[in-house]
Amino acid sequence: MNRMNSSLEQISLQQSVLTGPGPGRAWNFNAGPAMLPQAVMEQAREELLDWQGTGISVMELGHRTPQFIQIAEQAEADLRELLSISDNYHVLFLQGGGTGQFGMTPLNLLRDKTTADYLVTGHWSAKAYEEARRFCAVNVVADGADTNYCAIPARDSWRLNDDAAYVYYCANETLLGLEFHDIPDTGDIPLVTDMTSNLLARPLDVSRFGLVFAGAQKNIGPTGLAVVIVRKDLVGQARRDIPSLYDYALQAAEQSMLNTPPTFNWYIAGLTFRWLLDQGGLETMAAVNRRKAEKLYAVIDDSALYYNEIEPAHRSEMNVHFRLRDESLEPRFIDEAEANNLKALAGHRVTGGLRASIYNAMPEAGVDALIEFLHEFERRNA
Ligand SMILES: *Cc1c(COP(=O)(O)O)cnc(C)c1O
Repeated sequence: MNRMNSSLEQISLQQSVLTGPGPGRAWNFNAGPAMLPQAVMEQAREELLDWQGTGISVMELGHRTPQFIQIAEQAEADLRELLSISDNYHVLFLQGGGTGQFGMTPLNLLRDKTTADYLVTGHWSAKAYEEARRFCAVNVVADGADTNYCAIPARDSWRLNDDAAYVYYCANETLLGLEFHDIPDTGDIPLVTDMTSNLLARPLDVSRFGLVFAGAQKNIGPTGLAVVIVRKDLVGQARRDIPSLYDYALQAAEQSMLNTPPTFNWYIAGLTFRWLLDQGGLETMAAVNRRKAEKLYAVIDDSALYYNEIEPAHRSEMNVHFRLRDESLEPRFIDEAEANNLKALAGHRVTGGLRASIYNAMPEAGVDALIEFLHEFERRNA
């Protein structure tokens, strides 16, 4: 505590750094569970004990009541509007987070095939690949190991398999911040993508995909929920020997209520979708997100102290990873940032370094506060 206090004294940052997004709130750069929009949190607090005059909290509300069904249907309608999702896609709200989908993807989408194509571009696609190997033969289309997963392998090096049931990739590798800025062209084979850490960051042409999924706790809502957008013609041929909860067709037939769904998480996701619409939709978010990321990378690139290892064309707009040229300063950087209301800047335990996750809910003012601290820390440690 003393050390924290003394470092606080050395730093004279502007008030905005210290105030955070709201009273008593920090700028939280955690990768996930991540910051939620302040307005969403305030609305949830406002109606926590009494949802719209029912005298019942959403957490206590029966999932088959007209009230909850209205919440659930509105959430789906708002998500469909945000992403212009057409009627030939199911939208599901399932349990098990992102990782649950690593298994559900092959279990549902293999159909009469025995093999699937995976691009391995980092930690999360590697995890998905390992999980798929439990259920089928997996062809690695390309592997970014030779660049330490700092670049996406060039498209002309990919080895696609004509017999694959689907082609899988992770649109944003959250650990090092490696993002696809275009949807890869893989021909007629259904394309599957894990967008856990970048769905809703910008508009998306859903019609290019067979399946898009996202664990909620990065850019959507609380943990444990997964949003699944799947083309209707691809479901209904899941393996028979799997739990019914894992079968997209059965879930779709029951509006994702084959059992008691995570109602509170679904409700918060719905508030987030509504908030995004209120902001002006995903075009607006895209512009803000680009600006936030560009100014942060600019500071890192201009610095003699910080650096980023990712191929510039593939840098993530959601997760900005960086290191200090003098690595021994990293613990102090993290401590001093924490003492200045800039929380959770440590990188993932696998990669080390530092990481600022700046999803939709991180206001530009939070990025500005971090930039001010980056300059100040560099001045004192040049
Ligand atoms: C966090 C993350 C996951 C895992 O999500 P869980 O909900 O913890 O299973 C999967 N994919 C990506 C891209 C992630 O960032």
